[in-house]
Parts: sequence; structure tokens; C-alpha cells
Amino acid sequence: MQCLELKEFLARQAVLYVEDDAIIQFSVSTLLDKVIGRLYTASDGQEGLDIFLEKRPDIVITDIRVPGMTGLEMVEAIRERDKDVPIIVTTAYNETDNLLRAIELGIDKYVVKPIERGQLLQCVERCAEGLRQRRQVEEANRYNRFLLDINPNFMVTFESGRIEYVNKTFLEFIGFGSMEELLRSGRQLHEWMLSVDDVQDPEALEGWQDLVIRGHDRDVLVTFRSGDSDVESRAFLATSNRLPDSPKYVLCFTDVTRLESEKRGLIYKASTDHLTGAMNRMSFQEFLSEEMNRATRYGTPLSVAMFDIDDFKRINDELGHDAGDRVLVELVKLVEANIRELDRLARWGGEEFMLLAPGCGPEEMAKLGEKLRALIESGRPGGVGRVTCSFGVSDFAPGDTGADLLRRADEALYLAKRRGKNTVTTL
Ligand code: GH3
Ligand code: MG
Ligand code: MG
Repeated sequence: MQCLELKEFLARQAVLYVEDDAIIQFSVSTLLDKVIGRLYTASDGQEGLDIFLEKRPDIVITDIRVPGMTGLEMVEAIRERDKDVPIIVTTAYNETDNLLRAIELGIDKYVVKPIERGQLLQCVERCAEGLRQRRQVEEANRYNRFLLDINPNFMVTFESGRIEYVNKTFLEFIGFGSMEELLRSGRQLHEWMLSVDDVQDPEALEGWQDLVIRGHDRDVLVTFRSGDSDVESRAFLATSNRLPDSPKYVLCFTDVTRLESEKRGLIYKASTDHLTGAMNRMSFQEFLSEEMNRATRYGTPLSVAMFDIDDFKRINDELGHDAGDRVLVELVKLVEANIRELDRLARWGGEEFMLLAPGCGPEEMAKLGEKLRALIESGRPGGVGRVTCSFGVSDFAPGDTGADLLRRADEALYLAKRRGKNTVTTL
């Protein structure tokens, strides 16, 4: 709404005036008619109430003493239905009791009879000013909610830790038509929340507001499931902003589902060998350095095995490159199915692989190497007949760099090849 001048605002308001004295009614009506938009008049309380209910005027002026239903009874009936409409009563100077009762009923102003025109006009103007301010606030609220609702992000406003408003985009996602519907259901937003950063425990998620607001100077990743089980869950970046000098917060959840899945895809691509799906050299090295730190800190054993397919060139030459590829893929599957979840297999390059077994000393690693060697020999990966591998095992010693450890494994593998292949050697 535009910020109308008061006079202009008043000229658009409808007033109900209830007075049984025809002369007073005429004179006050003439006065009001000049300043307001529309005037309804009534001569008794019942007629006044009927007009009020039908026309919903913006301001009510009533005499206390009117026939039939009194002005007081009418005021009481109006207040039951509308707590806000401004009511002015006109009263004789000796009607103190009635006036007190009218004040109790929640009237806004009173004018003592005989009515002084200036005073009555001032009362009407003051009521109109209150109305105008209230309408401006209502309009501003409506506008703010409209802005929140058309936002494609999920928006939630808080006041002193209590949710004040959830925007339409969010409500629709969780299956509600309006804020009132959500409130009536008694359900809480965390019921649709799957995680806040690493927190997934449903009980901890009940305090999600603190988790999100505390993270206001960094990105907080929140995932929500939809109210519709056919719709996939989505990932959001949450940001919170506090209204200056106020206990109000606005939380905004920006949908990053596509970015997140692309990011995961890129991480997968960057860390995985595309032919076999095994870890690649780069991520193996990251993993190895973490495990070496752990082994140093806790004094736990750590071993690696480097292994290489024997005479692989011949497989390629005799059966084709595709057959060679098949051997690589199935060999990885075979090995991965026979190591612990903790162990890591990486394709080091060509037909060369690396195995890391945290918590295993060299004997255990040699045993694991021997088990895998026998499995590969009998398992015939790729369906090209007998395939064998040679293994070089090396044990991590405090002070070793990653390069030391890998060099020893390479040397051990070289020895295994020299010793006739299809064997496990430890250095
Ligand atoms: P050795 O027993 O001494 O290890 O002999 P080898 O024939 O296995 O070793 P060599 O290094 O001579 O040959 C390795 C072959 O592996 C050569 C290369 O073309 C092949 N190779 C490397 N990467 C791939 C791949 O991704 N797919 C296929 N099919 N072959 C590959
Ligand atoms: Mg080879
Ligand atoms: Mg080789």
C-alpha cells in the first residue's frame, strides 16, 4: 500500500454510525460525510449489528443508549467477532457506569455529549491513523511473505528460536499447503532432515537450528527428504542471517543437489581407475601416507604388496587387447572379493597393482599374497586360461618414507620375477 496521507486514507474508509436521535444523527452524519468514504447509519443496536456483519465497516461510532439492543450489547457482539475494529462511543456526561463497562469491552475512544464536532473528528482521525499503521504493517508482512514464497530456495524465519514462517517452496517439498497446515499437524522440520554436515543421528538433528546457526561463517550442508517418497532427497547449502538488533533469523537453504552429485562424480573419477574401478595411484598414495602416520603414531604394523601379472604381453598379443582388459577387470573383482574392507587395492599402472593392509605385518601380508596368488592361478580371471601374478611384499619401518616402502616392494617384486614368477617374495 502506498503511504497515503491521512485525509486521503480516511476518505476511503467506511464508518457505521448508530444513533437513535434523528437530529443528532443528521448533524453528525453531515459532518462525517465530508471526510469519510462511506457512511452507514442505524437507529438501534440490532440494526447496527446487522449492518456491521454485512458491510464490515472500518470504524464504528455508536451511542450507548439506543433502543432495543443497547449500544453496549452491540459493542460486545461486535468484539466477539472482531477484536480490532476501532469503536468510538458517544455518551451522556452522567453515564459513568456504562462508560466504564464500554471501556472494559474494549472500545477505543469516547466522546461526551453534546458532541463537539472538532472532538469527534479528532477521535475519528486518531482511529484512522491507528488503522492505517496496522494496515501498513499487515501489508509489509504480506509483502515479505510473498518475497519468501516466490524464492526458489527453502526459507525459514525464526523468532527467539521458534519457527515463525516456512516458505511455500519448502512447504510444498514436505507436502504441506500452508504454514497453518504444518502447525496443525504438530510435525517438526527435523523430521524431514537426513543430515547436517556429518550429523545423521535423528536425536541430534532435533537441535539442527544450533548446528546450522553456529556454522554461519562457513558452509553447512543439509540434506532433506521430500514428503513424497517418490521424490529423491536433496542437498542444500544453509546460510543463516540475523536481523540487526532483533531475535529474528532468516535461514536460507540453497539447493546444491546437482552440484553435490557432480562433485561426488568428479571425486570418484579423479580417484578411480576407469577400466577396473579400483583406486588409482594418486588416491592410493594419499591413503598410504595417512596409514603411515597412523602406524607411526600407534606403533601398529603396516605392509604393502606390489603385484604384477606374469607374461601379460603374451595374453594381449595372442588373444587381443580386449581379452587383456577383461583379465584386468576380473582380476580386480577377484582380489577385492578376497581382502578385508580395511585393505586397499589400487591399480598402480598397466598390469601392476598395489595392496595395502593396515594392521598386518610382513608375515601376514605374505600369507595374504600367497592366498591371492593361488586364487588368481585357479580362478582364471577373464576366461583366457591360466593367469598368474608375482608378488613383492614390503613392511613399513618407522622412519620410512612412502618412496622407501614402495621401492622395497618393487625390488621384492623384481626378485619374485627373477625366481621364476607366480611367487611371493618379501624384502
Ligand atoms: P612380466 O611377466 O615380466 O611382467 O611380463 P609382462 O609381459 O607382463 O610385462 P611387460 O611389461 O612386458 O608387458 C605388459 C603389457 O601390459 C604391455 C602392455 O601393452 C600391457 N598393458 C598395459 N596396460 C594395459 C591395459 O590397460 N589393457 C591391456 N589389455 N593391456 C595393457
Ligand atoms: Mg607383467
Ligand atoms: Mg609390468
